[in-house]
Amino acid sequence: MMAAGHAAKGGAAVTLLERNERLGKKLAITGKGRGNLTNTADLEDFITQFPGHGRFLYSALYRFTNDDVRRFFHDLDVPTVEERGGRVFPQSQKAFDLVDALRRFLDQTGVRVIYGQRATAIGVKDGIVEYVECGEKQFPADAVIIATGGASYPATGSTGDGYRLARELGHTVETPHPALVPLETEETWVWDLTGLSLKNVSVQLTVGSKTVADEFGEMLFTHYGLSGPIILTVSREAVKALKKGKKPVVHLNLKPALTTEQLDARLLRDFEKYSRKQFKNSLGELLPQRLIEPVIRLSGIDGELPVNQISREQRRQLLQTLTDMPLTISGVRSLREAIVTAGGVSRKEIDPASMASKLVKGLYFAGEVIDIDGNTGGYNLQAAFSTGTLAGLSAIGQE
Ligand SMILES: Cc1cc2nc3c(=O)[nH]c(=O)nc-3n(C[C@H](O)[C@H](O)[C@H](O)COP(=O)(O)OP(=O)(O)OC[C@H]3O[C@@H](n4cnc5c(N)ncnc54)[C@H](O)[C@@H]3O)c2cc1C
Repeated sequence: MMAAGHAAKGGAAVTLLERNERLGKKLAITGKGRGNLTNTADLEDFITQFPGHGRFLYSALYRFTNDDVRRFFHDLDVPTVEERGGRVFPQSQKAFDLVDALRRFLDQTGVRVIYGQRATAIGVKDGIVEYVECGEKQFPADAVIIATGGASYPATGSTGDGYRLARELGHTVETPHPALVPLETEETWVWDLTGLSLKNVSVQLTVGSKTVADEFGEMLFTHYGLSGPIILTVSREAVKALKKGKKPVVHLNLKPALTTEQLDARLLRDFEKYSRKQFKNSLGELLPQRLIEPVIRLSGIDGELPVNQISREQRRQLLQTLTDMPLTISGVRSLREAIVTAGGVSRKEIDPASMASKLVKGLYFAGEVIDIDGNTGGYNLQAAFSTGTLAGLSAIGQE
């Protein structure tokens, strides 16, 4: 949508082929329906949010910055607000407003949108694009932009078609795999906590004796293990470890804001207050109700024990459980459930200054179909908006 609108604004006759009966099905469900469209991080920070490959996005992010994105939507009557961690959302808190704004942008710029048209092939003659084929139909074109998304959440339309289209034109496609994806745990008791969300906790992901990721924020228990923003962020490293046949471990710290001494003092205060109660009835102020039973079990302390009989050693065990709860990761959810697909059309075969194919003249790429994947926080949508804009302008020679 960004690519088509910008190309049309520059004076080109543009046709957007959308396989669905409506536009932006995925965009409409982003950020839990609130649409975390970008981040206020500066350009250098942005680059680091695409681990190991952010430099590829430099020109695109420079050409159409996070401020540009906010201004763009503001001008289309969708003002935005910044929230924790620099995350930017529509003021209305509705991702759908982003879709609606983009649709108006396409209207204003005169893009012809054709629904229910699934691109099946791209015709090339003498190394130059000639048409897009949708089954029986052919749409002649001087330039073609592949912006078909990745292969996650296929019900939204992104079933990985772009990978096939690119491969058929000689492009290398790095094997698609889940990037931001929920984790499955070996510990089955976790599954009973389905729906419990924890704020202000931290997780460390270890592989063997090495800590490979460390995040602070919000997470969620699910019927198979763990999800939520900080889990999705560390999942990238979990995927890597699992691929090497290793078992990563999430160490959950339920009280990262307190030092061990502060937490111990807090426990002592609570224990004094509840000294005549049983241990299981003394943690209500410290933990969410549903976490009390598992924490007691993991601490190894008898829940029936009167609080005033808890020894120093037992308190130490409890401290350990509260600050380092190990959860063994047995696998990740499938690509279908991933927020973003890693892998895709090889960056080596795309000119980062224009998003043009280095192999086929008149061919461009934008968005998640490219081998790019960022962390949560609005980075992926910004990358899609920026590469889309750059591809649209390049396709009409205005980059
Ligand atoms: C649940 C969820 C929440 C997310 N939340 C956020 C968030 O808050 N912030 C953020 O930055 N990122 C978020 N993301 C990631 C972000 O949505 C994607 O990275 C982004 O949408 C990619 O944009 P795209 O245009 O490349 O692809 P898509 O948005 O997938 O769009 C591709 C379009 O191409 C169409 N298409 C596919 N194949 C064909 C074909 N053969 N012919 C014609 N049309 C075709 C599809 O129908 C679709 O409309 C989220 C993803 C998910 C799944």
